[in-house]
Amino acid sequence: MSLEQALWREKNKERCKQRYNAWRTRNKARNETKELPTFKRCEKCGVLKVSDSFYRQSDSLDGLKNWCKTCWERYRKEYRSENRTALIEAKRKKYHEKIANGFCHSCSNRALEGRTRCSICTIAGLCRQAIGNGTKEQAKYLLGKLEEGENKCPYTGEVIELGKSAELDHIYPKLRFPERAREIENLEWVSSRANKAKLDMTKEEFIEFCRLVTTYTRSEE
Ligand SMILES: [Zn+2]
Ligand SMILES: [Zn+2]
Repeated sequence: MSLEQALWREKNKERCKQRYNAWRTRNKARNETKELPTFKRCEKCGVLKVSDSFYRQSDSLDGLKNWCKTCWERYRKEYRSENRTALIEAKRKKYHEKIANGFCHSCSNRALEGRTRCSICTIAGLCRQAIGNGTKEQAKYLLGKLEEGENKCPYTGEVIELGKSAELDHIYPKLRFPERAREIENLEWVSSRANKAKLDMTKEEFIEFCRLVTTYTRSEE
């Protein structure tokens, strides 16, 4: 999505949503009633093929594209290799334009203050680092958890900020509990300082360790 599109979308958020939903309902109804032909001749290579060899196109008369999948793939591949430099340059330009205007570079939402990604994309990235995959849905779930905890570290009570001091910690450390390393439920928002100190301790062990430190240092005073 280009910068102009992102700006436009931000201004017309409600309208976009309505238009998209209307289009989806219309499209769905149309696709359900449309009967696909059994065979079709590709307009590019001229071969008669079964309809499975064609990509769908909801606004075409028979519901299929005019070129077969093989022809489409070949065309796409050729186009990409012929325009490689221009495509990379265009992508780069789009990326920098969006960042310069305060948009997330991977979607069309506003980026976090002073960062290059929005909250959801930032969390998705952290989630990927932590458990190996991070979808938008998972990011939304984790954002909910952060808000539930009132943006505070459960160990120190420090206010933690996305893109700054908020980190995802494995409650059961992944080195000692590899079977839980990829569970999203095993993740917890903590401050970066607490995360560094906790290392490969479990929640209970870490709290016990902190208690030991405070008791000992107090008795020394
Ligand atoms: Zn073809
Ligand atoms: Zn984003």
